[in-house]
Amino acid sequence: MSWFDDLPESVCRRRAPLGPLTWFKLGGPAEYLMSPRSTEELASIIRCCRDSGMPIRFLGLGANVIVADEGIAGAVIRLDGPAFIDVKIDGRRVFAGAGVDMTKLVRRLVREGLSGLEHLAGIPGTVGGGISMNCGGKYGEIATAVEQVDVIGPDGQAYTRDRDDLEFEYRQCALNGDCVVGATFKLTPIDPAELDRLFREIWMYKQNTQPPLGAQSVGCIFRNPDGRSAGQIIDAAGLKGQRLGSAYVSDRHANFVLADPGGKARDVIDLIQLITQRVEEHCGIRLEPEVKIWSDELEKVTGGPADALSRRKHSVRCTPAAKV
Ligand SMILES: Cc1cc2nc3c(=O)[nH]c(=O)nc-3n(C[C@H](O)[C@H](O)[C@H](O)COP(=O)(O)OP(=O)(O)OC[C@H]3O[C@@H](n4cnc5c(N)ncnc54)[C@H](O)[C@@H]3O)c2cc1C
Repeated sequence: MSWFDDLPESVCRRRAPLGPLTWFKLGGPAEYLMSPRSTEELASIIRCCRDSGMPIRFLGLGANVIVADEGIAGAVIRLDGPAFIDVKIDGRRVFAGAGVDMTKLVRRLVREGLSGLEHLAGIPGTVGGGISMNCGGKYGEIATAVEQVDVIGPDGQAYTRDRDDLEFEYRQCALNGDCVVGATFKLTPIDPAELDRLFREIWMYKQNTQPPLGAQSVGCIFRNPDGRSAGQIIDAAGLKGQRLGSAYVSDRHANFVLADPGGKARDVIDLIQLITQRVEEHCGIRLEPEVKIWSDELEKVTGGPADALSRRKHSVRCTPAAKV
């Protein structure tokens, strides 16, 4: 694509490995990896992709993405440049760029005594990824603090969308292809010492119930069905410790799949499918993945990544459950 080829390598890299940019540290390259320098450049890239029919994906810290070993066609856009990592605090309103690291943002807000995002303690990712996933847990979701979200639409136009318009639900919202460029949060001033105590309590809860933060994983693989715990359902199906090649189910939290260093995305994807099948056989519940699987092959078979695994045609390699 000639316009892309005229961009400097710092903005557009061809066949750029994505594995190191994800928490799983697995998977192949993107055809194009784009790091726009400004909102205007981002809009031009989006328009250019749309006009040429090139698929676009947005990548935050890759804390909820698995990339197929063979890589993916099209453009992956990462908002990691200075234009997208700004934080502005104005009284109880906080604006954060889409590329802002949520962990750092939450820690800063705790120090400032601004309450509303501390329940995201221990959830890695960017503001853009957090909004897209409506990340959260038993203490709350990001959506409750969101006031407005600035986006670039698939037409390359900039819009500001209100919280209601985004229709936040459990681990999703109606971005409809928009790229988040920043978000305004409305927070509540409270005593920083009290906020710090709350933050530490939530952080410790996560540390005590999940694999270590540095492990190669993406957090919970499956959505909790109808308020039930997917982890408990997987555990009840006898799958804790189940291994498939380089991937295995955590012994600590059965909704976490972990990978060995240097492992294969294929093993993780096959293990996800194996868990889905075994759980359905065991209790009739069809688990739905929360993780986003970026695979041209799966999308070709199924018409989209969301239900890629449920309609997948390939057979799965099985190995007996093994202690890890
Ligand atoms: C150890 C660990 C623990 C976790 N615990 C939790 C938890 O408790 N609760 C929870 O909800 N999640 C949890 N997660 C998952 C993950 O942290 C969240 O989903 C997080 O919001 C992902 O943010 P990200 O920036 O890494 O997004 P990515 O993983 O990079 O992307 C996730 C999705 O967001 C989209 N996206 C990213 N940036 C943008 C943008 N600018 N505009 C539009 N779309 C965008 C991507 O296209 C993709 O569809 C955990 C992950 C790990 C590794």
